[in-house]
Amino acid sequence: MSQLKFYNTLTKKVEDFKPIKEGHVSLYTCGPTVYHYAHIGNLRCYIMEDILDRTLRYMGYDVKRVMNITDVGHLTGDSDTGNDKMVEGAKREHKTVMEIAKMYTDAFFKDIERLNIRIPDVIEPATNCIDDFIEMVQKLLDKGFAYVAGGNVYFDTSKLQKYNVLSNQGGDDLQVAVRDDVDEDVNKKNKNDFVLWFTKSKFEDQALKWDSPWGVGYPGWHIECSCISKKHLGDRLDIHCGGIDNIFPHHTNEIAQSEAYFGHKWCNYWFHVHHLNEKGGKKMSKSSGEFLCVDLLVEKGYNPLVYRMFCLQSHYRKPLEFSYDVMDQVKSQYEKLKKQVARIADNASNSTVDEAAFASFKEKFTDALCNDLNTSLAITVLYDVLKDSCSDATKLKLIESFEEVLNLDLLKKEEASAPTVDAELEKYILAKIEERKEAKKNKDFATADAIRDELLSKGIVIKDTREGVTWTLA
Ligand code: AMP
Ligand code: ZN
Repeated sequence: MSQLKFYNTLTKKVEDFKPIKEGHVSLYTCGPTVYHYAHIGNLRCYIMEDILDRTLRYMGYDVKRVMNITDVGHLTGDSDTGNDKMVEGAKREHKTVMEIAKMYTDAFFKDIERLNIRIPDVIEPATNCIDDFIEMVQKLLDKGFAYVAGGNVYFDTSKLQKYNVLSNQGGDDLQVAVRDDVDEDVNKKNKNDFVLWFTKSKFEDQALKWDSPWGVGYPGWHIECSCISKKHLGDRLDIHCGGIDNIFPHHTNEIAQSEAYFGHKWCNYWFHVHHLNEKGGKKMSKSSGEFLCVDLLVEKGYNPLVYRMFCLQSHYRKPLEFSYDVMDQVKSQYEKLKKQVARIADNASNSTVDEAAFASFKEKFTDALCNDLNTSLAITVLYDVLKDSCSDATKLKLIESFEEVLNLDLLKKEEASAPTVDAELEKYILAKIEERKEAKKNKDFATADAIRDELLSKGIVIKDTREGVTWTLA
């Protein structure tokens, strides 16, 4: 049987994967911060993590995957600077923080469903776990790894033998995010110390706060992943994943506090996905307010699975530049592929499976994935199957098998075409969008929201994007 290998950011090597408990894998994923739609960069990360999850299952492992939903504590600056992202989102949308959290959590699940990403076994919003955070912070204080200053609780990085275990090793082929925000917090004893619990908030309007032994406040961002992982996966973790921008400080701080809390090594493998960039190499990001989302791709006529295939054709450890030209090429490739597969499925009952050919192609496909998740090579194996002289029954069985990982709906029959909007309704929608733009210009948000709600009641969803206001059918 093939041996799965992938790049471990902790050791800076492609390594054989060996789980702690034979046959079982504990897998933790940093989930979305739900203050806006996930952009297709975030979703590249979730698609590639889905491939890791599915590959592990394909290899026969019993996987338990946990994902958090960040609905409190994530600031716009990585080192405890800037504003709370959720509060900013609520202000932008004239809604409460919890309304924003619900709206964008729902939107996230709609996106991952359309991208055929398997829903993790456990999904836990940070605001569900406040008591667990308080328990962890208290133990870190008791063990001398934390201190209270200026009303906040900080992690003391000087108490560790080594702090930068993930990022500060030089010669890295992953570009580690460089902190570009200036940390002006005079309460910190050491430059890299980070907040575990905020009580003296610099944000007077912080919407969510809880009582704690250190006063009314709210948790820092990093503590949530350590706690949620501990709650559902115990004190030792096989694999932790996320985008490369999370290596520092988020994952570095997770390791610091978890290992200080447990008193032993916590996670064995760190899996990081490189960024999706805009044309010209700039990282796609939510905070810049300029990003592409799945709805926009759908509106432009792309099946979301064309984007999944676009991602699978490049390696997860390389930066990927988004382009509509390439999307168009992948779209026609995808449509051709579906037609070929449909022909094979129609003819398969006329032949029998050649088990030797099946085993040989399956091994090639598995080897590609086992070699640091080489998804583009796995797709090449699929094309080799289509070109091969083996029977259609063999091909069909192979496609069914490969689809357990690729999950591109290759065998799904096209549904009847989606409902359409006639010219008159389209004219009405565009007029309403103009009216709403005018209302927003005049800061008449009540009218702007009423227009959005009215369109929604007609089954039309409108969205503010970089390209202006767009609309889709609900
Ligand atoms: P967030 O919702 O901002 O917390 O990010 C969710 C996930 O997307 C994290 O794992 C990030 O590291 C990842 N991510 C953010 N921007 C990009 C990007 N442009 N390309 C790929 N992954 C990204
Ligand atoms: Zn996290």
